[in-house]
Amino acid sequence: MTIYSGPVFDMASQQFSVIADHLSIPINERDRLLMPKRAITISCPIHRDDGTTAVFEGYRVQHHLTLGPTKGGTRFAGSVDLGEVAALAIWMSWKCALVGLPYGGAKGGIGVDPASLSKRELESLSRRYMQEMIPFVGPHTDIMAPDMGTNEQVMAWFMDTYSMYHGRTVTEIVTGKPVSAGGTLGRREATGRGVAYLARRVMSDLSINLSDATAVIQGFGNVGSIAALELSNMGVRIIAVSDHTGALYRAAGLDVPDLIKHVSAHGNLAGYSNELSYDPANILTLPCDVLVPAAIERVIDAKAADELRCRIVAEGANGPTTPEADLVLERRQKEIFLIPDILCNSGGVIVSYFEWVQDLQQLFWEEDEVMRREFQILDRAFDQMTLRAKRDRIFNRTAAMSIGVERVRAAKNMRGLFP
Ligand code: GLU
Repeated sequence: MTIYSGPVFDMASQQFSVIADHLSIPINERDRLLMPKRAITISCPIHRDDGTTAVFEGYRVQHHLTLGPTKGGTRFAGSVDLGEVAALAIWMSWKCALVGLPYGGAKGGIGVDPASLSKRELESLSRRYMQEMIPFVGPHTDIMAPDMGTNEQVMAWFMDTYSMYHGRTVTEIVTGKPVSAGGTLGRREATGRGVAYLARRVMSDLSINLSDATAVIQGFGNVGSIAALELSNMGVRIIAVSDHTGALYRAAGLDVPDLIKHVSAHGNLAGYSNELSYDPANILTLPCDVLVPAAIERVIDAKAADELRCRIVAEGANGPTTPEADLVLERRQKEIFLIPDILCNSGGVIVSYFEWVQDLQQLFWEEDEVMRREFQILDRAFDQMTLRAKRDRIFNRTAAMSIGVERVRAAKNMRGLFP
């Protein structure tokens, strides 16, 4: 038992044990690699619109400081707890190391459903969260970004709060900001674009014709909606999408731009169409070429993994597949190609890195430069993963995580243990 214990942290530990066994990492080195360096828990009081005071719990976990500052998103969701945030921070570490960014992993969050707050309350809570975190973050210590339930506006409030405290504008304290406030072109689209880019690469390897291909997208937030849009722009038919309010299915393909218009007006998919509505419980197992889980953790369990009828799983979410489901997918790897989360959704943090670099240098790039470099890094990491998987005859997740863990371990061993 640790303070992090819970289903999501236990999953991250279990995954790490598989990799540590595979890499024959001595038992006495394992805790140093797995256990987070720091965890901060704060209380964020705000005035509600009705005059009462409400207090929300906030967290930030910084996993390791070996390769540079820590980096990772901030999640606002009712389900957020310390263990989930710790697991997400650990996954950020393997992700950053796999794609070669000079960061350790971090993640933060507040246990709140942002839809239950007015805009003014959301601003107060965002500002108070950043204000409480000021002693623990910094452009060379820990750099925040968006995650589930947060967006560019929240990042702008974070940046403004930090900057007001320091008496000057510090854009490099957070990434995923609006372009009008020091953000980079291509960050909002980066994660979904990366998911679609890698899915297309695998479709081409498997000789799947884009115009005959179908995709199912679970989750229609920033990642799911952009992945759907990019795939449909490539000619892929998006036959089903879902979010926490329900699912839609249309064999001939859904109109993705229209869905995005609906979601920006109403906040979610509810009310889009009664005729197309579908049971969200069955969406993952629909026959399709590309399945994109882009919602929350642990949605593909062993039973679902057994019933999947797709050719490619492109993990837009962090941790959507349980370790038990991994055993099934490993067995089915000839039928289903897995693009594991730490590679598949890494476009987000890759372009966050570009944003940080541009802010530090005050020299801004064109969008095609951002995209070209994003795809170059994704291609390199994809090549390294597939080479390793072939060479060692291992599952894609094992290969990707092994590369990430190995790099963190090599840096730790080279730097040694202080004092
Ligand atoms: N929250 C995103 C992730 O899980 C992005 C993190 C970042 O851009 O720093 O990868």
